Amino acid sequence: MADEKPGLRSSTEVLTRGFDPRLSVGSARPAVFRSSTYVFSSPEAAERAFDLVAGRAKPQPGEQPDLIYSRFNHPNAEIFESQIVPLENGARAAIVFNSGMAAITTALFTFLRPGDTILYTVPIYGGTQSLIEGFLESWGVKGIAIQAGETEAIENAIRTTPNLRVILIETPANPTLTMTDILSAARASKTAGSARSGEPPMLMVDNTLLGPTFQHPLDQGAHLVLYSATKYLSGFSDLIGGVALASDPELIRKMRLKRNMFGNILQPDECWMLASRLPTVRLRMNRASKNAQRIAERLAPHPKVRKMYYPSLFKDADQIRIRDAQCDFPGAMFSLELNGGKPAAFNFLRRLHLAYNAVSLGGVETLVCHPKTTTHSGLADADVTDGLVRVSVGIEDWRDLLADFEQALA
Ligand SMILES: *Cc1c(COP(=O)(O)O)cnc(C)c1O
Repeated sequence: MADEKPGLRSSTEVLTRGFDPRLSVGSARPAVFRSSTYVFSSPEAAERAFDLVAGRAKPQPGEQPDLIYSRFNHPNAEIFESQIVPLENGARAAIVFNSGMAAITTALFTFLRPGDTILYTVPIYGGTQSLIEGFLESWGVKGIAIQAGETEAIENAIRTTPNLRVILIETPANPTLTMTDILSAARASKTAGSARSGEPPMLMVDNTLLGPTFQHPLDQGAHLVLYSATKYLSGFSDLIGGVALASDPELIRKMRLKRNMFGNILQPDECWMLASRLPTVRLRMNRASKNAQRIAERLAPHPKVRKMYYPSLFKDADQIRIRDAQCDFPGAMFSLELNGGKPAAFNFLRRLHLAYNAVSLGGVETLVCHPKTTTHSGLADADVTDGLVRVSVGIEDWRDLLADFEQALA
């Protein structure tokens, strides 16, 4: 929508690019353009816009085609997509969706064909697992689960799986925070591609838990980064959204053609809200990560805590190596396994005064849930025990949160 100013640092760029106040009657912040259809500047411009949106023509550098219809595109989506790019290291294009699942579904439908195989790390988000195992299989796509964090086994699977087209990594895994090595998967994918003298399998990373602030998959060789924008990008637990980003704009262009068809673009109001939240993503995530680290490290030795899952407390040498190689900070999620199983976990949830018992994560408020009976119910995972509680730490004062957790444990 407006000129980009090259050479600026990302926290400046997020506030200055993609928006021209003259197009919002001089308003210093973007207006909300709640329109389903747009008036063409000429019949020729309409013809050109349709050639572009259908993929029959490619835009010239700097070309600003007329807007057509809000299922294809609208100003608030364009502003958001432009402004999120500088936050993701290495990204050159972004595409917004009406949920994280819409972003993941569209990515898989764009790049997979019947007969292809997808490798995916487990544990993975429940919706993603259902999509692959319960739905894509019936469309002729084979899904093979690989255990998160098993670096060598993952490399082997990438090298030896026939018809491998997509590798989908979610790291860290939820709720155990097991980390998967993105760089090693990217290298294995490249090797696999040249060994078969074809395109390397496409590496996608669900970066919802640590990105865009603490983990940068495109720098590590991933092709596509996926988000539930519902979480940290939005940050206030008040909207559902999703995003995909890539260094290669062609990948995003291909996804756009599918989004036009599926009709899963995010609405103008939500795009406007999300764009307003972008300049504070790093501030919120940094504060929440510092809070979580202080609380997790203090609660870990508590006699009622059997096990604490948090990246700064990793003991496994390979997990420590991956953490140090690909994460700037440990993030704002931890899980704790309580002595006393389900009754202990439920009593803990009942006794909390500040933290809310709710699923989801990434909000400014602290949320706590019992994965075994909620987010991970129906899934068999040995680490998701009766006593496990997952915490998404917010930006409250950490001392108040710690006191709340301690009184609930007492
Ligand atoms: C929440 C979440 C999703 C799904 O996103 P929605 O916005 O709820 O559709 C996908 N992946 C991860 C890691 C998530 O936490």
